[in-house]
Parts: sequence; C-alpha cells; structure tokens
Amino acid sequence: MMSWSTEQKYQIVEQFWQNGVVRCPDDNGPLKLKLQKLHGGDYSLDAECAVCGKRKELRRGDDPQRHRFRPWTAHEVERVTESVVKMGASHCPVCCSSIDWQGAPGVLLLRCFRCGNSNQWQNVSVTN
Ligand SMILES: [Zn+2]
Ligand SMILES: [Zn+2]
Repeated sequence: MMSWSTEQKYQIVEQFWQNGVVRCPDDNGPLKLKLQKLHGGDYSLDAECAVCGKRKELRRGDDPQRHRFRPWTAHEVERVTESVVKMGASHCPVCCSSIDWQGAPGVLLLRCFRCGNSNQWQNVSVTN
C-alpha cells in the first residue's frame, strides 16, 4: 500500500494542530487521530484513514513549521505565565498552538507539544 507523501504528511500535521480534525488528503475520509505526549516534550501522532486504511505515525519532524521552532525567551515565558494566570489559557508565542499548563504549589508548568517548548524541560531539541 502506498503511504502518504511528504507534502501530505505536512498537511495532516498542520491541520491537526490548527483544527484537531483532519481529512485524508487522498480521499477526504476522516482520519482517526491519536496524540501521544511523550516524556521530554516529544509527541507521536498516530493517523489512520477509515476509508483507504493508510496509517502513519507522525512526529515533530513531519511538521511543516518545524524550521520556525525555537526555544521560548524568558520574556515569552513571563507573558505566557501571565496569560495563564489571568485567563486560564495561552497561545504559544512560537507556534501559536494552545499550550498545556498544570499548576502545582508554587509552580506553573507550561508546555507546548507542537513546538516542544516548556519552562521546565532543559535542552529540548527543536531541530529534529
Ligand atoms: Zn484515505
Ligand atoms: Zn509552541
């Protein structure tokens, strides 16, 4: 079975992070998607088409925006923190996705799975 082309994989990853809903680039069938958040900030996105049966595990390396990903600056971490504290939500200043956050006593853990940023992880690779 043929698999999706590189361009099509880019399209799937982009649509996933924009809408959370993706259709197969070949037949417009709905994709079954499963996002797994991995230790250290990586992720795998399992995509399977209910119509043609194509299936692929996608990673950050399949993201068409990946060349724009860079670590958050200290100033951006401050802005994201402020927004989460005030409004309970924030968009990532690097990739514009909604960020994940978790409050613990004295700590606010901020994470963006699309671009791999966090105020906790050190030396997160954003180039693969
Ligand atoms: Zn399909
Ligand atoms: Zn991000």
